[in-house]
Amino acid sequence: MWRRKRVLVTGGAGFLGSHLCERLLDEGNDVLCVDNFFTGTKDNIVHLLDNPHFELMRHDVTFPLYLEVDEIYNLACPASPIHYQHDPVQTTKTSVHGAINMLGLAKRVGARIFQASTSEVYGDPEIHPQTEDYRGNVNPIGPRACYDEGKRCAETLFFDYHRQNGVEIKVARIFNTYGPRMHPQDGRVVSNFIIQALQGEDITIYGDGEQTRSFCFYTDLIEGFVRLMATDKSITGPMNLGNPYEITIRELAERVIEMTGAKSKLIFKDLPADDPLQRKPDITFARNTLDGWEPTVGLETGLGSTIEYFRNLIAKHG
Ligand code: NAD
Ligand code: UDP
Repeated sequence: MWRRKRVLVTGGAGFLGSHLCERLLDEGNDVLCVDNFFTGTKDNIVHLLDNPHFELMRHDVTFPLYLEVDEIYNLACPASPIHYQHDPVQTTKTSVHGAINMLGLAKRVGARIFQASTSEVYGDPEIHPQTEDYRGNVNPIGPRACYDEGKRCAETLFFDYHRQNGVEIKVARIFNTYGPRMHPQDGRVVSNFIIQALQGEDITIYGDGEQTRSFCFYTDLIEGFVRLMATDKSITGPMNLGNPYEITIRELAERVIEMTGAKSKLIFKDLPADDPLQRKPDITFARNTLDGWEPTVGLETGLGSTIEYFRNLIAKHG
């Protein structure tokens, strides 16, 4: 007999998590959102609170959790360098203890589990674009290590629970993703540039701005999440999910200035330690495995909707 799936989303009050909760509710699931509100906020999910199929629980994933669920999306972890470097020990704990706790839960209840891993597992990559078999170039003792190595260890745990206990896993390596509900103060480049432009401030480029990133709009990414979760159990990943359209940070700044009509100037600051020089996903595996999945929202459209979001946010809260 058909029954609703019970889906747990950790980090469900964050940028990606809140969009994922919405999508899963639209598909007729019961959704349990777990978050400690470190970087997430109730504002991101307040519109879901009246839905009888949505439940919110304040909980820190570094502590065990006992529930009955069919699927788990493990997104809990601060994602921006400013936030994950704020309390690096807690960041590593969130990735590692969080993974152990969620994998333990998955093992106990026989749930399928998805891990929000990251392109940061490739560190400052020596091969370009990055394919899943590339093992990365990560500094294990630098300021980004709490995040990069935490996520690498989480991947190790996922594959060990899979091999040792038969847990069904789906590991996605997410490349830079942006859109409405990004935290306005999290210091990530898209939100920083848009807010600076809208407030008529100078745009802060770290380094010479020739470093590259490839930006994916959140709707394309969430589609990839849901398709990956629905694949046959033989598909474990790791799978790159992102948009292969690559641009320099300087070009991004120029686009934002053009689209907002701002008078901001570009100012150059020091490049943070271990900041990757280039990043672009090879998405061949995802395209071949997820029924031809690929990003459909171009930078112009995605930036347009993100600018609109921050314009409204500034008008409301200043
Ligand atoms: P986000 O900071 O908006 O969301 C993370 C959420 O996790 C927040 O709601 C936060 O409060 C919650 N959280 C943090 N620590 C927790 C803990 N110990 N217990 C419970 N909840 C906790 O970031 P996001 O961009 O939505 O990222 C979501 C996930 O995707 C993260 O795991 C991140 O590493 C991964 N990811 C994101 C990107 C991206 O570009 N957005 C890229 C690569 C990987
Ligand atoms: N960056 C920048 N100015 C900013 C914020 C970020 O030039 O105000 C740069 C940053 O140094 C990096 C790139 O933009 O090279 C992407 O930074 P972000 O923090 O968004 O993501 P990540 O480095 O994790 O890819």
